[in-house]
Amino acid sequence: MARLHEHEGKRLLQEAGIAIPRGRVASQPEEAAAIAQEIVAPVMVKIQAWITGRASVGGIKRAATPAEAEAAARSLLGMQAQGFTVTQVLVEEQLDVAQEFYAGVIVDDREQAPLVMFSSVGGTGIEEIAAQHPQQVAHRHVDIAFGLQDYQARDLVRRTGIHGKLQRQLGALLVKLYQTARRYEARSAEINPLVLTGDGKLYAADCRITVDDYAVFRHPELGIAIAREYNRPPTRLEKLAYQVEADDYRGTFYFIQMAQDFQKGAGYIGFHGAGGGGSMMSMDAILRQGYKVATFVDTSGNPPASKVYRAAKIVLAVGPIDGYFGSGSGVASQEQFYSARGLFKAFLEEQVDVPIVIRLGGNAEDKAVEILESLNGRIPAPVEGYKKDDSPDFCAQRLDTLIKEAAQQPPRPRTQPQHPAPQRPYSFATVTGGTVTLDHAVCATCESKICIQACARHILTLNEAGLPVLNIPLDEAARGKCVECLACEVDCLLYGAGGGHVDLPLPDVD
Ligand code: SF4
Ligand code: SF4
Repeated sequence: MARLHEHEGKRLLQEAGIAIPRGRVASQPEEAAAIAQEIVAPVMVKIQAWITGRASVGGIKRAATPAEAEAAARSLLGMQAQGFTVTQVLVEEQLDVAQEFYAGVIVDDREQAPLVMFSSVGGTGIEEIAAQHPQQVAHRHVDIAFGLQDYQARDLVRRTGIHGKLQRQLGALLVKLYQTARRYEARSAEINPLVLTGDGKLYAADCRITVDDYAVFRHPELGIAIAREYNRPPTRLEKLAYQVEADDYRGTFYFIQMAQDFQKGAGYIGFHGAGGGGSMMSMDAILRQGYKVATFVDTSGNPPASKVYRAAKIVLAVGPIDGYFGSGSGVASQEQFYSARGLFKAFLEEQVDVPIVIRLGGNAEDKAVEILESLNGRIPAPVEGYKKDDSPDFCAQRLDTLIKEAAQQPPRPRTQPQHPAPQRPYSFATVTGGTVTLDHAVCATCESKICIQACARHILTLNEAGLPVLNIPLDEAARGKCVECLACEVDCLLYGAGGGHVDLPLPDVD
């Protein structure tokens, strides 16, 4: 779920006719002072960070004067919120709070319907409110064909013991909140606290809105860079990984950066899973060995080798990791050598010098392990491949052993793989902007011609001269007939004469 900042959510509520405190965001202390000057009243200064409990971490301050607002903003801008830097504060008028409520709309997956909730108590989370004041919380599911009707909203408020004009005001606000949630396809839209001021007006004093990942593309006006829930702004590599996912619909590539700015030897592992449950189990296995994960990655759903390659390149760009651990589902139906080829190409290009343990369980796992272990001697790092009968805990222990052994040994030399300019290139484009190049001068010396049988789509054939060429038009390869299985590079290197190369650009990492 993509989460909006408080000030972004409030803008949507204001559009719907729900009052919000006067104010706006500042990214400089002087700007905060100017906003407080305009408001001509005491203000709140609040960090804009996707964390819960901002007040408890000192992220919300009161300021009686513009000078105090400036000082508050100076202390808050740049603070670390769960390891990431605060770059904006919201400066807004302090409200004369007479009473606080809670109002929320969430999608109830079990009922497959929106659930509207109202409580005559606000401030803390709805779970705590419901536990402590169950009689003051009312909720109802909404039939999306008809929406939330005025009388239904008023009934919700009535059930918490509120009557008269305030009941009508709150009922109308609930309808507007419901309409906002529906309009922006929110998974949740909560106002907490919803404040009644001394002069009888209702204000959304704070709000939290999350948008369904799959609806984000329909709402470019929200400016959501990544359709996933983060508790902080996405990092450069997370944006890059998301772009890889957005540009290639085949399989799934989920990437989250768990740490940054760490040193070599700090015990961080590049973790690369496959399949949700197996990945979590495998990550736990590496944590049990006393390591921390620098990344959580999941490439699953039958991704092409090129996607696994790009995922591995991004993991390796994260920082000075002490080891690379790949492990996930043990029963994958896709031939595991596709993932193995992607990993092979990334590790070879990067000349990885920290131990690598990869568990690729499932169909054709023997060939996958053979490909991976062929890296030994080609890169400085030791590489071990495992299969479905090897448990994640055993594999994590092996990585721990290799890391400890590597610490006792001098660094091994790196040799940058060379791709000399092809003498007689035969090239064509691939679906993600890559290029396959077969050097016919080398191919003429190749006895195995392994690329022909290893090509996933059998789109390579030998021409009259006995050289590999496409048996389809070039533009069909670029439209996806070439599935970027990387056999014409990896298998060619291992079992052929090394005349094939697939260039897969990844601009920021390059
Ligand atoms: S395996 Fe490699 S070297 Fe041999 S024909 Fe195919 S691309 Fe050329
Ligand atoms: S040409 Fe064939 S072997 Fe080469 S990447 Fe494309 S599908 Fe794979």
